[in-house]
Amino acid sequence: MRRKACPTCDGWQDFRPLDDAEKTAVRAEKGDRHYVHDYWRCTAAGCLWYQRWYSRGDGGLLPEKFREEAPPTA
Ligand SMILES: [Zn+2]
Repeated sequence: MRRKACPTCDGWQDFRPLDDAEKTAVRAEKGDRHYVHDYWRCTAAGCLWYQRWYSRGDGGLLPEKFREEAPPTA
């Protein structure tokens, strides 16, 4: 994972490349031929932001089902 500034978390977060399910979801929204292989997503709990590595302007929010809940605090 790599650190990047997340516009919705308003701070530096760990990003990772989209997995196959996430790529499929982006294509469902942007079109089957949309290039999805250089998208990265924020891994902060509860954050759905994704974007191209060098372009915050080409990004968006993943569908709600990809939201990763914060781990339970025991
Ligand atoms: Zn974020």
